[in-house]
This record gives sequence, structure tokens and C-alpha cells, in this order.
Amino acid sequence: MSSLPTSPPQPTALDVLGQVFGYSHFRGPQEAIVDHVVHGGDALVLMPTGGGKSLCYQIPAIVRQNAGHGVTIVISPLIALMHDQVGALTEAGVSAAFLNSTQTFEESSALEKQLLRNELTLLYAAPERINTPRMKGLLASLHERGLLSLFAIDEAHCVSQWGHDFRPEYRSLSLLHETFPDVPRMALTATADHLTRQDMIERLKLDDAREFVSSFDRPNIRYTIVEKTDPTRQLLRFIQTEHDGEAGIVYCQSRKRVEEIAGMLEAAGIKAMAYHAGLESSLRQQRQDRFLREEGMVMVATIAFGMGIDKPDVRFVAHLDMPKNIEGYYQETGRAGRDGQSADAWMVYGLQDVVNQRRMIDTSEAASEEFKQVMRGKLDALLSLAEDTRCRRVSLLGYFGEASQPCGNCDNCLNPPAVWDATDAARKMLSCIYRVQQASGISFGAGHLMDILRGKTTEKITQYGHENLSTFGIGADLAEAQWRSVLRQLIASNMVRVNAEAFNTLQLMPDARRVLKGEASVLLRQQSLTTKAAKPKRGSKTSVKGLVEATLNAGALERLAHLKAWRGEVAREHNLPAFVIFHDATLRAIAEQAPQSLQDLEGISGMGTKKLQAYGAEVLRVCAAA
Ligand code: ADP
Ligand code: ZN
Repeated sequence: MSSLPTSPPQPTALDVLGQVFGYSHFRGPQEAIVDHVVHGGDALVLMPTGGGKSLCYQIPAIVRQNAGHGVTIVISPLIALMHDQVGALTEAGVSAAFLNSTQTFEESSALEKQLLRNELTLLYAAPERINTPRMKGLLASLHERGLLSLFAIDEAHCVSQWGHDFRPEYRSLSLLHETFPDVPRMALTATADHLTRQDMIERLKLDDAREFVSSFDRPNIRYTIVEKTDPTRQLLRFIQTEHDGEAGIVYCQSRKRVEEIAGMLEAAGIKAMAYHAGLESSLRQQRQDRFLREEGMVMVATIAFGMGIDKPDVRFVAHLDMPKNIEGYYQETGRAGRDGQSADAWMVYGLQDVVNQRRMIDTSEAASEEFKQVMRGKLDALLSLAEDTRCRRVSLLGYFGEASQPCGNCDNCLNPPAVWDATDAARKMLSCIYRVQQASGISFGAGHLMDILRGKTTEKITQYGHENLSTFGIGADLAEAQWRSVLRQLIASNMVRVNAEAFNTLQLMPDARRVLKGEASVLLRQQSLTTKAAKPKRGSKTSVKGLVEATLNAGALERLAHLKAWRGEVAREHNLPAFVIFHDATLRAIAEQAPQSLQDLEGISGMGTKKLQAYGAEVLRVCAAA
């Protein structure tokens, strides 16, 4: 039988998803996005961290390259991660490379030649590269030859000063639409805030781009916000009882605190490292690599750590200090549970956090008054979230403009907080602030005001004669912790302002009038009660490890252990994180399957064609030996 030589039909996006990445179906809006971009449309993609943004440009890049459109340029600020990103694509059989300043002239030249021969599907580059004469020349040559397929701008919120990661070098990306208006562009981010979104559209000229906004819900993440009492001990207990031996990130405000906490965890026998911008960049890179490559590491870090960290099995993100705003909180907590398995977002916060954050905004010299106003509004929204007695997820999603129902998987849903009527206490606090200001002509800080309310005769009280105020001792019935809670919530609801320019003194705001006049009541969460009640209820939650062990039989567990050890060796040989070779979920599926032939491995999620060819036989051997 003879047949005419015909070129095989080009694989569709769905074929690529299966053959290259080993996944059987698109997630949420991925299909619509991929389809739009494959056909040359511009797109703005808003998807939560872990939602699956990478495939939204990687698959169009592959399909378009097959169709002769040339290379996709991925703009990403994550220089330290480019090696692993490119490694993951190479493992999947996709020709990809990155350009950065660590490369020699010869290396860059070789890459450029490859590009001009249309041999690369994806090229990663940092935004500051785009504006260099050499890069501009390269892009122009590619464009001339019709080999510039698509620009994918990752972490696109970095272009906006309202985003929490403003990077001035992103501004130079206007060059893309100005010089190459006919090349499709897509911008991707996990920050959906309205101001930031408008800014991205304007700066990257995406007015005509289609917007794809996903649900921002991450149902597998459990949100918990507790009062900060003894943060180090609280953290230790949280890790030891809920996440022993698991990977996690702990965020702290300052470098000093990061070092302290990392030291404390290590002393307690937890594998922990510190990461902040004050460390040598080689040390930072080394620690980041360890976090990605070793199992069960805890990274204690400032927000300098984490953007683009695509480790799928981070089981918890803990905040020991409050972030600046909900966008930051959501992005940081989103680094937990990318693999879809249950994970914790856990935060402790207290009055001092509120005071610190206010001070940072008020005293920032570079910022305009308008900017400070926006930042204060954003901080207030986060405070309201922390103080909220309703479902955390409903509040969080509501902030991003998404309506939802109580989730059953946050602290407030699982242990509804007791609420107490604090109208009377709030009024006492407000009138005390007022009286003190009136009597002394100056304002005072939180500690002093609480001393007056509770009727403590300190040196300072006597010095100012504050024991003679009508509000002295009127709040002796409440504990200091309760007063702190009242004050936090008054600050959160904008009735009291912390004046950072005057020693963090407290000042009444116009909104206070309604409570003082008895026109509004104040309901507060009973902090100390809820934290106690929430503690021992552990039965409701089985750890992820426990779940895995419960569902696998002894033989499968044995295979899983062998597969993990084998994966570790391969990863080390290739200098890549283990999850780039295979995700845990893929190994688990293999272990369960007890494969006898290559055919048995086909169709396992995460097993693409290239990986089957490269590792199939080895995987069978490892399973047979187990
Ligand atoms: P993002 O960049 O949005 O934070 P990623 O692109 O890193 O998220 O994807 C998160 C995880 O989800 C990755 O491990 C990825 O392999 C996986 N993933 C993405 N799309 C799919 C899909 N359609 N089916 C199965 N897994 C997917
Ligand atoms: Zn809830």
C-alpha cells in the first residue's frame, strides 16, 4: 500500500495540552484565553496565583510557532527563576531559552542566531533587557522576518505604581506597542485591583485587549487570622501541630525579625532559612534554590521573597506581621497550595501592626498626599478583613469585586467568633481621646490612653494630672487586651487615626462623631475567646500527608517512596527542582497505577510525550524494583 507524503496536521491547543504537558483538560478560562491568543488577539489575563497562567502563553507560543509565526517573548522580572522555568519547558520538549546579564557575549550571539533561524519557541527576558540597543536590534530583525509571534508580559502589575511591586523598568515596555503595534500582546497578573488594572491597560496600551478575569477563589486555602499575643510561640505551635516537616513560607516585616525567627525555628529543630534583600545575591539565590529543591524547608522572609515561586507543594504561608494591603496579602498567601491540595494561610496581627503600617505610609517621603491617601484606604480594607466576623473568603473575594457564599473553610466559618457589643467601650475610648486632647492641648499614644481608662497611676499620668480627668478609671472593667481590640477596630473603621508625624499619637476622626452621639453601634469580635476556642479543634482537619497515606496501599506507598528518591536523583543531575521533573500528584498516580507497560503510563496527568520517552522506561524499572 502506498501513501502520498503529506505533512501531518498541526496539533491543536488541546493536543498540545495533552502531548506536551500531559493534562487532559483546560482549567477554567484557560481554553478561551489560549484560543483568543492563538488567533492573534491581545489579552489581559487576571488569574489568582496558582490559577495556571503559564499555560495561557506557553500553549499559544507552541501553536503559533508550529504555524510559522516565530518566537514568543516572555517578559518576566524573575531573573532568578528563569533557569528553572526554561528547564521545565525543556523537560517537556519545548525549545526555550532566556537572555540575561549572566550570559557571555558568545552565548548571547549563539542564542540570537538560533532565534533568527526560527529554532526557539519561547524566549524569557527581563524588562530591563528590552530597552537595550542590542535587544531592540534583535527584535527588529525578527520582526522583519515575520518571526515575532507574541509578547507575553508576566507579572504585569509591576507596571503600575498602585500595584504592590512597582518596577520602573516595566514602564519601558511601552516600546513594544509603539515599535511593533502589529505583534499580539498579552499581559498576565494575579493582582485584580481596579486601579492597578486601569493602569496596566493604559501603560501597556491594552485598551482593545480582551479582558479575562477568573474567579479569584482558592478553595483549597484555609484562611485564619488570629490575635498576636506571643507571635514566636504561636508560630512554633502552628508549624509543629499542623505542618510538621512540610514546606512553608513565613513573612515578617523587617530583616532583623526574619533573622531572629529563622534562628528560633532552627533552634526548635525546624529546617528553616532566612531570606531578605540585605543578603548577598548569591546567598539569596542559593537559599531560593534550596527551598525549591529540598523537601520540607521553611523560608522565613521579607516580601523580597516569593514572586514567581512556582513550588507547587508549599503547605502554608504564615504572616507574623501584617502586610500593607489585601493585594499583598492575597498574592503572598496565594503561594500556598498551588497543587490544589489543602493548605493554610495563617496570620497573627495586633495593634502594633496597625500603628507600624500607618507610620510607614504617613512618613514615606517620596509619596504624594494623593498616593498616601490611596495607601491608607488599602490598609483600612485589610484591617477590616482582619477584624471581620464574617467569612474571610467572602470578604476577600468581595474586595476583588466577586460575590460568594460563606466557605466553610476559614477560621470564622469553622469557629464563628463571639461578638460583643462594644458601643459603650468605644464611646469611652473616644471620649477619653477627646478629653485628653482638650485638657492637655496635645495628643497621646495608645499605651497612655489605656492607662487612663483603666485608672493606672503612672508617672506620666501624674505628670499631666490625668488622674483628674472625668474618663480616668472608667474602663477598669475591661482588660488591656480588650482595650487594644477596641482601639484596633476603631482605627480600622477610621474613627481614630494614628498620627505618625506626632509620636504615633491618637486623634479623633470625623467618623467618631456618630458613635459619640449614639447614632452608631460597634460590634466587635471577641478575640481572646475565639483564639482559645479555635485551638484544639483539630479533628476536622487531616493533614495532607495523612490523607495521602490513608488512600495508598502498602505497595503503592513503597513505590511512591522509590519514585521520589529516583526523582530526586534526576532533579539533582539536571540541576532542577524535583517538581519540574514530575509533580507529587503525578508520582502518586503512577504509584497507585502500578504500571506494567509504557501504555499504562500514558494518560497519567503530568505525563507528556517527551517525559514518557525520556523517563517511561526508568519509571517502570523503579516501580518493578519497589
Ligand atoms: P500561576 O502562574 O497562575 O500562578 P501556574 O501557571 O504556575 O500558575 O500553574 C499552577 C499549577 O497548575 C502548575 O503546577 C501547573 O502545572 C498546573 N496547571 C495549570 N494548568 C493546568 C491544567 N489545565 N491541568 C492541570 N494542571 C494545570
Ligand atoms: Zn469562610
